[in-house]
Amino acid sequence: MIFVMKKDATDKEIEDVIELIKKHGLKPHLSKGEERTIIGAIGDESIIRNLPFESFPGIENVVPILKPYKLVSRDFQNTNTVIEVDGIKIGDKNILVVAGPCAVENREILFETAKAVKEKGAKFLRGGAFKPRTSPYTFQGLGVEGLKLLYEAKMEFGLPIVTELMDPRDTDLLCKYADILQIGARNMQNFRLLLEVGKIDKPIILKRGLSSTINELLMAAEYIASEGNKKIILCERGIRTFETATRNTLDLSAVPLIKKLSHLPVFVDPSHGTGHWDLVAPMSLAAIASGADGLMLEVHPYPDRALSDGSQSLKPNKFSQLMEQIKRIAEIVGRSCE
Ligand code: PEP
Ligand code: MN
Repeated sequence: MIFVMKKDATDKEIEDVIELIKKHGLKPHLSKGEERTIIGAIGDESIIRNLPFESFPGIENVVPILKPYKLVSRDFQNTNTVIEVDGIKIGDKNILVVAGPCAVENREILFETAKAVKEKGAKFLRGGAFKPRTSPYTFQGLGVEGLKLLYEAKMEFGLPIVTELMDPRDTDLLCKYADILQIGARNMQNFRLLLEVGKIDKPIILKRGLSSTINELLMAAEYIASEGNKKIILCERGIRTFETATRNTLDLSAVPLIKKLSHLPVFVDPSHGTGHWDLVAPMSLAAIASGADGLMLEVHPYPDRALSDGSQSLKPNKFSQLMEQIKRIAEIVGRSCE
């Protein structure tokens, strides 16, 4: 349920509505816009549906949110969410590129990659320190050592860090080193993990689950938002279909659809979405054309020696060419990539 307050509603009138929501066991979420204040009542709406709202002078309108996800829906907030990290605005006109190796392997390769992607205009450095691998016998990431290397790379090249959180017990540790925490596709419905990152004040990149619907992705985001953290970036990274020629089927129709349903920024990861480096550039351009706010790209200077996902990693020179093309497509769709 959304309470749209009158333009001239007083602080006391707003407070009274918040108290009313709390009294009935629902959670109030305040959104103070330039024009007016909106208060969301999140929980079982049926409890308050029949209350005499007319007796509250500050309320202009009461609107039920029909979608199962509330806080992340456009019904709750019509304006796009813009998240700021180190002065970089995510979800605004400028398109952002997150780039780096699949996993942090060692200092040399990480620094070589970071230097190259920074020079070509990437705004964030990615790299897994804790890797969610299908086989327990493959490289699992460097763990804390990997986080420290990412942090060193940030200090050296000035690129904020994106890395994956797999275990709620590592939340504080990752928060020390990373600027954005990633929830991977395999953990999209790990609800304890979602509730945990809902309690922190760090932006979250939430990747779409391997077999998840758009509705399930938005419900997963709602878990995070329901705990207070509204800094969520959704990421389309391909889904399982009957097609096996590509690693996943990159569902680009999800981008404009999610942008219609939600106010959250949407990124696309064509590396995991296709599994083939030579498909990454065309799908990146298509992603920008479809309205994505950013891209997440795997880049590795020596893909044939990479410890994970070499086959979908771009070499720095290909990344550089792609960045030039992204700028041109961005302009056509009224965006920029600076
Ligand atoms: C990743 O980006 O490092 C990753 C493992 O991706 P996903 O969770 O989408 O498979
Ligand atoms: Mn990878």
